[in-house]
Amino acid sequence: MKKPRIIIIGGGLAGLTAAIDLCKRGIEVILFEKEEYPHHKVCGEYLSTEVLPYYDSLGIDLHELNPYKINQLEYSSNSGKVIHCDLKMGGLGISRFNLDHFLFRSAIKAGCTIINQQVTEVNFEKEKFKVIAKEQKFYSDFVLGAFGKRSNLDKKLERNFIKNQSGWLAIKAHYKDADHPGNLVSLHNFNGGYCGLSRTEMNTVNVCYLATYSSFKKYKNTEAYKKAVLMKNPRLNEFFERSEPVFQKDLSIAQVNFDKKSLIENHVLMIGDAAGLIHPLCGNGMAMAIHSAKLAVESLVNFYTRKELNRQNVENIYREKWQNNFNNRIRSGRVLQKILLNNTLSELSQNLIGKFPGIMPHIIKSTHGKPIYA
Ligand SMILES: Cc1cc2nc3c(=O)[nH]c(=O)nc-3n(C[C@H](O)[C@H](O)[C@H](O)COP(=O)(O)OP(=O)(O)OC[C@H]3O[C@@H](n4cnc5c(N)ncnc54)[C@H](O)[C@@H]3O)c2cc1C
Repeated sequence: MKKPRIIIIGGGLAGLTAAIDLCKRGIEVILFEKEEYPHHKVCGEYLSTEVLPYYDSLGIDLHELNPYKINQLEYSSNSGKVIHCDLKMGGLGISRFNLDHFLFRSAIKAGCTIINQQVTEVNFEKEKFKVIAKEQKFYSDFVLGAFGKRSNLDKKLERNFIKNQSGWLAIKAHYKDADHPGNLVSLHNFNGGYCGLSRTEMNTVNVCYLATYSSFKKYKNTEAYKKAVLMKNPRLNEFFERSEPVFQKDLSIAQVNFDKKSLIENHVLMIGDAAGLIHPLCGNGMAMAIHSAKLAVESLVNFYTRKELNRQNVENIYREKWQNNFNNRIRSGRVLQKILLNNTLSELSQNLIGKFPGIMPHIIKSTHGKPIYA
């Protein structure tokens, strides 16, 4: 019998994880990725350890990359007032440069075909998908949309969120700094956004921030913005005064959109950021991308093993699993983001946490999942 075939569009964490899992279950996978590996990506590079049991079950051992083990969180308000908290589950400090490349190599090893091309069209006709990349046509039973926050395909599929302007941009760079502890992730507020710092296995400190256009637009470039706005926070000022940038130029992405997205569009099952993006301050987007890949794979495998299921059933199963796992987390992230970006609320909540430090682990828990088992 011919093997079932699934096409995955996008080779970030969600796409590569789904590819590895599907290949290991004997399903033929073709994955399209428009960029060459390895490459840097705008991301805070704090990966929640909730993904580790699932990756273990796939034979993926992230410890081979020697990530930093992070178990402390530091948060500072605009004025530089700091609170600390233990991170019970914790995370890994790991660069996307090496993480995505490692998963890419694992996907090839698992038997996945990876085509380094941009998909320009995806059509569903007569129970089959036709995917077009560089004028070549590819066919499959199912397509997973793993094309991230914003892609040419969002326009093609006429997704609702793409019609709205987003008020956010995101910047990332690595810095040489001897002082930032390896087990610490810092989150620093500034007027117009927040900035995360954590050490990566490259022994650099990843600096990644989210900023509103309204606060950014009067500055000519990221350097000017950093000096005039970020460095007003005394903790960020201290960091930038003592550290040295590694990249020649900061990486940036525009139009970071947190609107609700459709989980299924023209029968394409969306995974990772293509399905929905949690606010970055939660440090859970990567884990959600990986987890959503698992949920989609399980839903698809149902289709091939349980003959009574049709496409509609599979889509319903996936939608329900996704909503049960992530809806509350995304909601908590929205509330937290609102508090953090309001100077008064942010100072007030800091005072409250100072008096009742036991609140903090509950807040963190509300934006994270439990360890993901196979
Ligand atoms: C500022 C910021 C900081 C963050 N910090 C953290 C953090 O510290 N911890 C955390 O857990 N999460 C963080 N996140 C979230 C995290 O980065 C994302 O949730 C995660 O990268 C999602 O992975 P993905 O596979 O869905 O998308 P991506 O990693 O973006 O992968 C999508 C891939 O699809 C490819 N692609 C797009 N269109 C096409 C096409 N037409 N054809 C072929 N390929 C295509 C792209 O090239 C890309 O490689 C942060 C996000 C932001 C914006």
